[in-house]
Amino acid sequence: MERRTFLASLAAASAAGSLPLRAEAPPAGGRITLLHTNDTHSRIEPFGPGNGAISGLGGVARRATLVKQLRAQLGPVLLLDAGDTFQGTPYFNRYKGRLDYQLMRMVGYDAGTLGNHDFDNGVGLLLEAMVAMETLQHANPAFPFVNCNFDFKGAPELGKRVHPYIVREFPGVRVGLTGVGVAFAGLVDPKNHAGITWKDPYESLKPVIKRLREVEKVDLVVVLSHLGHNNQGGSAPCDLLLPGQVAGIDAIIGGHSHTFLDAPVRLPQANGETLVFQVGFGGVNLGRMDFAVAKGTVRAASGAAMPVQG
Ligand SMILES: [Zn+2]
Repeated sequence: MERRTFLASLAAASAAGSLPLRAEAPPAGGRITLLHTNDTHSRIEPFGPGNGAISGLGGVARRATLVKQLRAQLGPVLLLDAGDTFQGTPYFNRYKGRLDYQLMRMVGYDAGTLGNHDFDNGVGLLLEAMVAMETLQHANPAFPFVNCNFDFKGAPELGKRVHPYIVREFPGVRVGLTGVGVAFAGLVDPKNHAGITWKDPYESLKPVIKRLREVEKVDLVVVLSHLGHNNQGGSAPCDLLLPGQVAGIDAIIGGHSHTFLDAPVRLPQANGETLVFQVGFGGVNLGRMDFAVAKGTVRAASGAAMPVQG
């Protein structure tokens, strides 16, 4: 249609009341909500009485209800986990993590990463838990794991299931997801991470984020980090130092340190801001971060922790 004809038909349609008087520009970019947990530690049931401020909070069934409500209310959502799913209750001793991953699939997780405790029973039983989750008969798809600083050369079956990054696409927004894990030394018995080598998270992230930005052309870069929030001046990599070390991260979903934050910490980075968040442990809270993005840039971001309660 010629422009003049188009304008004439627009004016006619407008006069007829079938269009708003001021034609709206097509929406640029898109919106995405990240919902997240960390260090759920086999807490299938809510915390009982006698647990102080967290008494009565948590529970996978309630988390599922909250996520379902939010998915119904919101636009596109990604449900993510920052690792240490395993260890902490008799459910883990009995089911070796199979139950945890199967329930995560039922709740509708989109991706997770690996914490040190996920290796507590060794590579073989971690792999078994992943396979049990994949073979579950359920409408929700099996979810992938992301990590870019473990070298799985000596553990190829596990390596097949842990991707250096994944990309998810929604209307107006492409999201790149990657992950980093804490050093094994002092935390994981060498026999339990046999075949897997830890590499520096900062150096491992740089090429992945460059690829996500330049080749995959994502609008939002999200890191699932099991490094811990704050190394308190030590030399270990941590979430608060990550934005200064690696440019181009929009959101860090943290774990490992069981840090309770009410809202994300906002740190400057080369392309704007990085939101660094972590929501305690045990599924007590669900984290939420909302992003409006356009052309590879975050235009608005906010976040808060939501208690998981009955
Ligand atoms: Zn941990």
